[in-house]
Amino acid sequence: MTNPAEAPKTRLVTCPACGGASLYSPANPWRPFCSERCKQQDLGAWASEDFRMPADVPPDDAPHGDPRTKN
Ligand SMILES: [Zn+2]
Repeated sequence: MTNPAEAPKTRLVTCPACGGASLYSPANPWRPFCSERCKQQDLGAWASEDFRMPADVPPDDAPHGDPRTKN
């Protein structure tokens, strides 16, 4: 039953993005990811980690909080 011509030269690896099965072969240009989406996802993940901005910090020069605090 083992035909070398039909033996798969590819193998399955774990996709780093989704943890699913990914085809590790020249036919998969996004290897070791399973798809382009997963590859973009992974790149976006480290990019957002690197360029994360403290957007949750409110500006100090915004006195419109409690109306009783103004003179
Ligand atoms: Zn994936």
